[in-house]
Amino acid sequence: MADNRKHAEPDTVVVGGGLMGACLAWGLARQGLRVCVLDEGDIALRASRANFALVWVQGKGLGFPAYTAWTKAAAAAWPRLDAELKAETGIDVSLDQPGGFTLCLSDRELQANVDMLRQLHTQPGAVAHPYEVLDHEQTKALLPAIGPEVSGSIYCPLDGHVNSLRLFRALHVALEIRGVDYRADHAVETIEPRDKSFVLKGAWGEVRAPRIVLAAGLGNARLAPMVDMVAPLKSSRGQIVVTEKAAPFLRYPVVTVRQTDEGGIMIGASEEANGASLTIDHGISSVMADRAIRMFPQLAELNVVRTWSAFRVMTLDGSPVYEQSRTYPGAFMAMAHSGVTLAPQHAYDLAEAVTAGTIPEGMAVFSTRRFHVPACV
Ligand SMILES: Cc1cc2nc3c(=O)[nH]c(=O)nc-3n(C[C@H](O)[C@H](O)[C@H](O)COP(=O)(O)OP(=O)(O)OC[C@H]3O[C@@H](n4cnc5c(N)ncnc54)[C@H](O)[C@@H]3O)c2cc1C
Repeated sequence: MADNRKHAEPDTVVVGGGLMGACLAWGLARQGLRVCVLDEGDIALRASRANFALVWVQGKGLGFPAYTAWTKAAAAAWPRLDAELKAETGIDVSLDQPGGFTLCLSDRELQANVDMLRQLHTQPGAVAHPYEVLDHEQTKALLPAIGPEVSGSIYCPLDGHVNSLRLFRALHVALEIRGVDYRADHAVETIEPRDKSFVLKGAWGEVRAPRIVLAAGLGNARLAPMVDMVAPLKSSRGQIVVTEKAAPFLRYPVVTVRQTDEGGIMIGASEEANGASLTIDHGISSVMADRAIRMFPQLAELNVVRTWSAFRVMTLDGSPVYEQSRTYPGAFMAMAHSGVTLAPQHAYDLAEAVTAGTIPEGMAVFSTRRFHVPACV
């Protein structure tokens, strides 16, 4: 493999080294491009180091069937990404796709979930995903540790989870192996389109490239207008609670409770319209913990060892955004809330689109143009 490190003028600069930027940079390097990643420092805001690690299909795409199809394709492509990262880096990201559950603590909650899935499956252009509605006994047969308050569940066989921090690590090791020029502490302050290329500048100096990808998560909001795009983001904060390690008892991930490959139980993730503060709200985490204990009473015996909050990279409708600037072709933008689930789509399909210089028709539905229509009504 050619070592293309420290090229003064790379083919492509990726701004942001979170899961989105790392997947894309790896995918671009696989296509033979000379890639440079400009990232902030270690204490930067990174959803990629704070997520719940689900590879999740269930319920995705209400109001946007193309997103259901995209997510299903991602879940199907995950074993390939897992195998390729393992072969390239030796790192096992602990992909496990046994199917996943939404557990409900009342009949009303179960009915609301069933209604939502029916709506998803009957909307115009609906893309089906398999699911089963299970009562308490049927759920208990698969999840013996549930408590008496669980009235039922929804099971989708396509769901799963990974070790997300290890995924992040594997991608960065793979970047190193592929000779990607990864530069930490290189916050991009300005982007100037110049002679069919882009000059990116920061306190560290400047770099020029004919193609750039804005994969800076929440940072895209500031950077996108520099290449005549808009990053439609809204505030969404999530909290997660982690317990000490326990003997394996949870074979399947539940959308709000999962046992990691290392044994700890993750309880998550709240959805708060808060983009201002990362201070833990104990009122919210105690509700999350209480619900988790009602689902699995044995959790009451475990100590909480960690809790954190993080901002999501949440677009206005929750679905991903992939776009090329119309004014400045060669400048791409990519953002997605479900960056773990969609990692294979970003590493393979999106990287191929960026390499080809166009977002193909099937992917163009994820442009920001979808937000313009309601704005005109
Ligand atoms: C609580 C929570 C739970 C989640 N659970 C799941 C889940 O279960 N499954 C799932 O699929 N997804 C989940 N997600 C979402 C997932 O974590 C994100 O979609 C993904 O991490 C986004 O990656 P990103 O690279 O776009 O953003 P980030 O990880 O935020 O990375 C952005 C990067 O850009 C850099 N940057 C910003 N500005 C600049 C600049 N000017 N110059 C250079 N670099 C810059 C930052 O330093 C950072 O490194 C969750 C997120 C949260 C917060």
